[in-house]
Amino acid sequence: MGGPFVASVRSATGPQGEGHSGTVNRFCTKSFLERTLSNGEIVSRSWLCYSLSTCHVYCFACKLSNSTGNLATVGYGDWKHARSNLEQHERSTSHCWNVTQLAKRASASCRIDETMIRHANEVESYWCQVSKRCVSVISFLAERVLAFRGTDEIVSSRNNGNYLGLMELLAQYDSFLAQHIQQHANKGTGHTNYLFSTTCEELIAIMETHVLDNIVGRVKEAKYFSVTVDSTPDASPVDQLTCVLRYMKNETPVEPFVHFFDNAGHTGQDQANSLMRFIEANGIDIANCRGQSYDNAANMSGKYRRMQAIIQQINPLAVYVPCTAHSLNLVGQAAVSSCRPVVSYFGFVQELYNFFTSSTSRFDISMDRINPKGLRVPKSLSDTRWSAHAGATKPLREGYTEILDVLDGISEDENQKGDRRNTASSLYGVMNKIETGFYTVFWDSILDRFNRTSKSLQGNNTDLNTAVALLKSLSTFVHGLRDRFEDFVVEGAIRAGCNDFSRKSR
Ligand SMILES: [Zn+2]
Repeated sequence: MGGPFVASVRSATGPQGEGHSGTVNRFCTKSFLERTLSNGEIVSRSWLCYSLSTCHVYCFACKLSNSTGNLATVGYGDWKHARSNLEQHERSTSHCWNVTQLAKRASASCRIDETMIRHANEVESYWCQVSKRCVSVISFLAERVLAFRGTDEIVSSRNNGNYLGLMELLAQYDSFLAQHIQQHANKGTGHTNYLFSTTCEELIAIMETHVLDNIVGRVKEAKYFSVTVDSTPDASPVDQLTCVLRYMKNETPVEPFVHFFDNAGHTGQDQANSLMRFIEANGIDIANCRGQSYDNAANMSGKYRRMQAIIQQINPLAVYVPCTAHSLNLVGQAAVSSCRPVVSYFGFVQELYNFFTSSTSRFDISMDRINPKGLRVPKSLSDTRWSAHAGATKPLREGYTEILDVLDGISEDENQKGDRRNTASSLYGVMNKIETGFYTVFWDSILDRFNRTSKSLQGNNTDLNTAVALLKSLSTFVHGLRDRFEDFVVEGAIRAGCNDFSRKSR
């Protein structure tokens, strides 16, 4: 017989459970395991179970009570009359009595192992309370991307990391947790206390599965989706391929991060394989993919055997759209690299930053001059986004005169070392040129606008129409700068301290 409250019941077309009525083969169907109430509600006949060996159904409650009747003894297999006979049986006084008795005996208060059950429930409730606190601390740390572990896992140690540290902090205001830590902490491995990193890792894995299932469920509900994939080395440095799915929820696009693929490989085929494995493992249908977006790296965007081409072979409707913000940055980078004096200019900007930040005293001197005027401190050139060079040219344009004065002061300062004075003098010489002043003003104007456009392109709500409008507007702006050449020369000359030139120009 199948388990209590059953039941395996076979499908209506299988070989078992057959009965014969004339020439018609009849079977035990799943509908016999359900009852439709007078209000239309369908409830399970939990008392009915099916035996694979006899191919008959039995009443679990009546059989346990040693009742008479086929359902309690030899089983019932007349499928033609099953519906009416089962209804008749479940309305019978003896069946109702047996089901009630079974329910009473099943309740903990009537069982001989009542004490054990109560104890088990208490233990379950206790660890449930501990788990809730662990999950809260883990969520807190994970949301802020903070490290969990320290150099040891000893409670009350200063080096036990953020997880144990936070648990100890909570315990100061939570008597339950304080008592738990007092009773279970520092008992060594093998003693369950939910305070070890292994518990953390297990809970994180459970939470990850829960979150991923939730997102995948939403993607399936929305049906159509697009994928965004990008890779970057982490601190290890292991190349991490990041996967984001984009779908619509209540007419709003949503883009949750879903997975890191460790060491997915560098070729387009490797990365496409990783993506397909993830998609298939989560039961998502690639046929519903309507878009793919990657940066312009050759292994992603290339036409042959590259990631986008491989995915398009599987589903031609997965249209490839290169990352617009990345394309824009490539345009800027290419424009700069095509002009050697501009490449030298940006080299100078980085050199200036390095000079000020390589010595704390020099940085302090420059801050004393620049900060009181509310000016920004010199910044390094951005490695990740070309448009973020705006962060370096803006402070330079605003504090040009002050930085010149600081360099002049250092080059004349006899308390500074010779090589430092020499570098300061050389940097001063470059900054004092009209070209440098001009490039600073000119590139700051371009980069400021480029950077704002780049940020807008990365906005959550930016659609294709907005992106096109933003790029057209930027193009018009850059073209318009040609008419402002004289203005840039004059402002550059003023900033570089070449006042004669600026007066002549005017
Ligand atoms: Zn019964």
